[in-house]
Amino acid sequence: MGDHFQTIVDLDATAADAPRLAERVLDRLVAEGIVLAERTDCVLGQPLGHPPGPRWDKAVNPLDADGKPYDGLAVHTGRTVFHGGQGEAEWARCPRCTATTRLCTEEWERIEAAWTPFDQAMDLWYTTGAADVDCPACAARIPLPDWTWAADYWAFGYLGLEFWNWPEFTGEFRALVAEALGGHRTTYVWGKF
Ligand SMILES: [Zn+2]
Repeated sequence: MGDHFQTIVDLDATAADAPRLAERVLDRLVAEGIVLAERTDCVLGQPLGHPPGPRWDKAVNPLDADGKPYDGLAVHTGRTVFHGGQGEAEWARCPRCTATTRLCTEEWERIEAAWTPFDQAMDLWYTTGAADVDCPACAARIPLPDWTWAADYWAFGYLGLEFWNWPEFTGEFRALVAEALGGHRTTYVWGKF
């Protein structure tokens, strides 16, 4: 059994406002008792994170509340490519024409011709913060972060709240986080390592 994570990514935060927003949402989570303000060695991929608070159970379904999380919250600020860890996105969907572009075969092999423009755009976005992919169906030039992905596998943003080894979050909790982010659009990336 590996480690699993759930990440709530703010799609509207900019490089400039991500640190301030991170502080605001953290204050809210600490006030609710969901995580602690102190930081300890409780996350993967970063030196320190915030351990679960006395009311961590408010974030999850009551039926899961006997599964106390054994790890904490890593706050990512700065330009970050978030992804679902193991696996692949089966397809990407154009927000303009809603056509899906298959990126993998039924056997989960990458379809290189379809995948290459996305792969190149991901590198460019990571380097510069801007990249587009031409939709193969409608030929529109679509910014990389505006595509939607099978199982919400990818997200491109400047602020992400990555929780390690917690029971599955409720929609109410994800809404609370979005509200603490000033009503920003968020997406939810989850997976395993
Ligand atoms: Zn399209």
